[in-house]
Amino acid sequence: MENIKDPSIYRNPVILQSEDLTKYILETAVYPREPAPLKELREATNNHPWGFIATLPEAGQLMTLLLKLLNPKKTIEVGVFTGYSLLLTALNIPHDGKITAIDINRKTYEVGLPVIKKAGVEHKIDFIESPALPILDKLLEDPANEGSFDFAFIDADKENYVNYHERLIKLVKIGGLLVYDNTLWGGRVCWPEDKVPPHARSGRDAAIEFNKTITNDSRVEFALTSVGDGLNICRRVA
Ligand code: SAM
Ligand code: CA
Repeated sequence: MENIKDPSIYRNPVILQSEDLTKYILETAVYPREPAPLKELREATNNHPWGFIATLPEAGQLMTLLLKLLNPKKTIEVGVFTGYSLLLTALNIPHDGKITAIDINRKTYEVGLPVIKKAGVEHKIDFIESPALPILDKLLEDPANEGSFDFAFIDADKENYVNYHERLIKLVKIGGLLVYDNTLWGGRVCWPEDKVPPHARSGRDAAIEFNKTITNDSRVEFALTSVGDGLNICRRVA
């Protein structure tokens, strides 16, 4: 992780090309409607040295709307960190809904856990501390899991997005959503290679490869949106 310690990779002023526009969106639309538990978790995360990698609240607002529209009961999250996207998912699925949440680091999950508990939604979460690929493969060993998830949010190591997609497309049902974060990589996906700082190249190359893969994947319809750091929203259709 050390070599990507560059908050500008994750900040959308790079994509929107305007600090003022970002501020406008946050202050007029996002912060006034952000639920109190999410605000509390976001503020707790700000004190973490890696706080800047958390899901951006404006991306969270769009995800919330998608969750409300879909009303999923069974979801999966790859890449939890301190739990902003996890908590917002837990707040927007039914009381008996379930989230399988995978991350290699339980310690960061524990930063947000007190807020998750206070919000009364911990019972919906099955947190698994592990690299995600073997867990997804294990889930696929049981045919009952195929097509059983309504919603997936993917926000872990970008270099594995294509690998995650190959597995998640089988786990998510037809009509379900797969939402991938950071798919514009701070706007660097369109930069000439020599302008991209070395520490941002691997993520940028992965985002380019992933977006191309999705464009050529007839199993999904999708929108590559410039909200936050780029959300690629895919709906499984085959
Ligand atoms: N969605 C989170 C949020 O709302 O704040 C942010 C996730 S953060 C950008 C990426 C997370 O992916 C980190 O917590 C990291 O530990 C985790 N991660 C990195 N590689 C992973 C892997 N191979 N398997 C599972 N988790 C991984
Ligand atoms: Ca992210």
